[in-house]
Amino acid sequence: METNPVVVAGGGPVGLVAALALARQGVEVIVLESEKAIPRDLRAGTFHPPTVEMLDALGVGGSLLEKGIKVPEWQLRDRSSGVVAQFDLGLISDETPHPFRLHCEQHKLSQIVHDALTELPNARVLFSHRCTGFTQDGGGVSISVETPSGPEEIRASYLVGADGAHSIVRKTMNAEFEGFTWPERFLVFATPYDLREQGFTGNAYVADPDEWCAIFVQPHEGPPGIWRIAFPTQPGMSEDEILSEQFVQSRIKGFLDPDQDYEIAYRSVYRVHQRVASTFREQRVLLAGDAAHANNPLGGMGLNSGIHDAVNLAEKLAAVLSGEEPQDCLDRYVRQRRQTNIEYVQATTIRNKRLLEERDPDIRQERLDEMRKTAADKDKARAYLLNSSMIASVQRARQIQ
Ligand SMILES: Cc1cc2nc3c(=O)[nH]c(=O)nc-3n(C[C@H](O)[C@H](O)[C@H](O)COP(=O)(O)OP(=O)(O)OC[C@H]3O[C@@H](n4cnc5c(N)ncnc54)[C@H](O)[C@@H]3O)c2cc1C
Repeated sequence: METNPVVVAGGGPVGLVAALALARQGVEVIVLESEKAIPRDLRAGTFHPPTVEMLDALGVGGSLLEKGIKVPEWQLRDRSSGVVAQFDLGLISDETPHPFRLHCEQHKLSQIVHDALTELPNARVLFSHRCTGFTQDGGGVSISVETPSGPEEIRASYLVGADGAHSIVRKTMNAEFEGFTWPERFLVFATPYDLREQGFTGNAYVADPDEWCAIFVQPHEGPPGIWRIAFPTQPGMSEDEILSEQFVQSRIKGFLDPDQDYEIAYRSVYRVHQRVASTFREQRVLLAGDAAHANNPLGGMGLNSGIHDAVNLAEKLAAVLSGEEPQDCLDRYVRQRRQTNIEYVQATTIRNKRLLEERDPDIRQERLDEMRKTAADKDKARAYLLNSSMIASVQRARQIQ
């Protein structure tokens, strides 16, 4: 009989969802978050249908739906010729009660989940608590924690490393973060200019060999929202150059009116990786979310796959802790989530980037034509939407023994 709590290192969206999913099943859980409060930086902002369904089951889907913008249609565009394909998630409304992409900043989900955790007697979130390492034996995990009152050790039955891409848990496990980092960084900025006026749907991907981009409307002080746009940059550029007004304006003017200046509400630059940890488990220590895998944002799959990890892992951990399942069932978590990430999330996001940036005009034309045909054929469009909405990846994971 395990008496120590499960400790989750990292109070980002994945760690908090893992904690809520465990606590809802009666497991005592502690979340260690190194920051003083929920980080509010702008990062992922797309939730796919199966993710909203999982959040519904945890009692927090409704609050997220209230805060987000439903985007039922999205476009693939060519920078010079305009719309290539438009996909309508209504085609898969028999597969999900949420046939749309839900756009909402991830920190709003974190806040909703945090608030739900504070209502539960078996869950605690400790801010300003940084996990610095761990040791483990057959009976549990001893976690070193830096706290405002000095170093402490917490004894846990299991440790979930949801401490992001630079995960100290992953490094202590000695797992490799296998894969690569793209040479170019991504510029992300936001403008209140309403792109619907130019025929854009709330989510659009624009193909171009040099200046491809991805566009997502986000909620911002009510409708019509604010438009986040991600562009690649040249590998040699300095951060100051990338973030300069002149460079940001040149990117947005490149596909809108070249004679107009656009208000820029926010801008940032970040490095993008395609990596998967060599294992997600070392005995009683498990990885989830960005600690376990990282990918480019084209398709909005990183955070979603992290939440799918969190829910999958919590179900198995609760079953192990209640004695319903042997500890070995945690290896099934690794097989299901690691394999699906490689086969599906890594492959799709790399393919999405290659589609947008293709330089060879013949290959480019061929791929865009293929997408045009896919969108025009109901059966093909449906199959494509089941993949891009991540329904297929969740179904695939369930099949893995
Ligand atoms: C700048 C940026 C922009 C992004 N934009 C997009 C986007 O547009 N679309 C998209 O799909 N994805 C995007 N991503 C990726 C997306 O944000 C992640 O997939 C998502 O945040 C993963 O959630 P997580 O909870 O696993 O990790 P995180 O959100 O990174 O949360 C990890 C948490 O752990 C805490 N922590 C770290 N170390 C410790 C420690 N040792 N002890 C305790 N706590 C610790 C951190 O403070 C943080 O709160 C972006 C990422 C970055 C960095």
